Amino acid sequence: SSLYRIDGWGAPYFTANPSGNISVRPHGSNTLPHQDIDLLKVVKKVTDPKPLGGLGLNLPVIVRFPDVLKNRLESLQSAFDSAVQSQGYDSHYQGVYPVKCNQDRFIVEDIVNFGSGFRFGLEAGSKPEILLAMSCLCKGNREAFLVCNGFKDVEYISLALLGRKLALNTVIVLEQEEELDLVIDLSRKMNVRPVIGLRAKLRTKHSGHFGATSGEKGKFGLTSRQIVRVVRKLGESGMLDCLQLLHFHIGSQIPSTELLSDGVGEAAQLYCELVRLGAGMKVIDVGGGLGIDYDGSKSGETDLSVGYTLEEYAEAVVGSVRSVCDRRSVKHPVICSESGRAIVSHHSVLIFEVVSASKPMALAHQVNHDDINFLLESEEARDDYEELYAAVMRGDQESCLFYSDKLKQRCVEGFKEGVLSIEQLASVDGLCEWVLKSIGASDPVQTYNVNLSVFTSIPDLWGIDQLFPIVPIHKLDQRPMARGILSDLTCDSDGKIDKFIGGQSSLPLHELDGGGGKYFLGMFLGGAYEEALGGVHNLFGGPSVVRVSQSDGPHSFAVTRAVPGQSSADVLRAVQHEPEIMFQSLKHRAEKVMHTKGGGEDEDDEELNNVVACLDRSFNNMPYLATEQAS
Ligand code: PLP
Repeated sequence: SSLYRIDGWGAPYFTANPSGNISVRPHGSNTLPHQDIDLLKVVKKVTDPKPLGGLGLNLPVIVRFPDVLKNRLESLQSAFDSAVQSQGYDSHYQGVYPVKCNQDRFIVEDIVNFGSGFRFGLEAGSKPEILLAMSCLCKGNREAFLVCNGFKDVEYISLALLGRKLALNTVIVLEQEEELDLVIDLSRKMNVRPVIGLRAKLRTKHSGHFGATSGEKGKFGLTSRQIVRVVRKLGESGMLDCLQLLHFHIGSQIPSTELLSDGVGEAAQLYCELVRLGAGMKVIDVGGGLGIDYDGSKSGETDLSVGYTLEEYAEAVVGSVRSVCDRRSVKHPVICSESGRAIVSHHSVLIFEVVSASKPMALAHQVNHDDINFLLESEEARDDYEELYAAVMRGDQESCLFYSDKLKQRCVEGFKEGVLSIEQLASVDGLCEWVLKSIGASDPVQTYNVNLSVFTSIPDLWGIDQLFPIVPIHKLDQRPMARGILSDLTCDSDGKIDKFIGGQSSLPLHELDGGGGKYFLGMFLGGAYEEALGGVHNLFGGPSVVRVSQSDGPHSFAVTRAVPGQSSADVLRAVQHEPEIMFQSLKHRAEKVMHTKGGGEDEDDEELNNVVACLDRSFNNMPYLATEQAS
């Protein structure tokens, strides 16, 4: 398992067990080994047909572990609690989860539920997000924040104000100066005293991919001049006490605590200035950015890893706020963070199947010399062929490459002119491949075709070259004898995975078992952003989803919820087709055609029924390849 660095990126939740399968420890390393959940057993339970005790779902599947979510949330809270205690900080930490990272109902409900003991809240950035956050927080802690970020119109601000009427702790964070007039106006009309925050544009900038939101030219937030104007206007309106929160966001995956402390220190100065100017300041909201270690290197040198732990992150935030406030004799504010990636990334695993692999040529007997006799008929081709033959005899790799290329090129030209047949072309290709393989110059990397859409399930891989750990979830006790890149189902050359963590351009993989044995891969740490950003390219929809918890039963786990992936009808509907009407018109067509065929009545009826049943299944099944026998 060290090949895949599982102990680096997977700890404390994922590990390889003695059977060579990946085990999940949903409560972190505290879990007893006999309570580990074997991912292969989960896949079996999910995919086995119902009569065999399975759930009869198709892959790909997202397996969610709510207990991992709980552990992440509690670890974050306890990291801050420890920092507050050890540094004698005179207030507390009260975080929010930015729902954009994964808006799945059960994830948001879990977070509100697991976090209600420590007032954990939510962050929203759009109208549907504030609606879901408001309704979920009805069951949460009354003091939990509902931080309202993003571009806002009258309706958005009205919803946030309405939230306060419903005794929800909504904070309207001004991202644009223009939003202030709307807030003042609407709060008067609705007779609500708002709690207002403002998002500051910091000068501190992080240089990685995720740092583009920070710095003076960042997309969001108010400049120092705008902040001064906002404070003045609130004062003139008699509402300066409503300004209670300062927010900033340096960017996601903040690489180091040095950069973090620099940004938090700058923001803390701003906070103290707002106190000096008479605002009713209570909270500093340090945004997101708490990173995770995708490649297990803990180096912080690329966007894929960060050079700190949860505890070090919390220490740096608390320390920076404390030292600035102490210097300025300002009361310590409540510290809020909007960590998304760090809370939800670990909680789910995407599992998919390899359906085939390009086969490397066997070394012997594959070039039929009769097939290449034609090469001897042209003087030029014969010369190239003889040079190639001599180079093979000498073991001269460079000349082999040169002459095989030359010979191939010559034959392609012959083919284009119509002189060579496709069989002759194929023979020359076979000859050259054999030569390269026999001198050790052929590409040993195979293409593994996977029953997955990168665009649907790992959109950041395509969009921003983000890498995630991808690992076989079984056979880890056997040495992988091949290397592969992964190619997805879409008709798109970008639908491939040819970069892997650790800077590898191919993945160590096991040879496919010719006897029909299955080969499952897992993509880990993709619980944040990937589901929220995925599309339906080629109309491959969302995977099946199951929730898995520990249980005392024989398998140490129970599937507490199972939802099949989107069907073809579902994805067709998403692009305005009407599957019911489509089905009816295809059925009518079948009736018309089959009843005019002139066969016996009974025969026609049976064929018609088969056609209609096939259509029905095709609309209702998932768009992915059905790798089981057709039912
Ligand atoms: N808050 C804001 C304003 C953001 O823009 C983001 C994401 O970029 C987050 C929070 C979540 O950040 P992360 O996932 O790095 O914790």
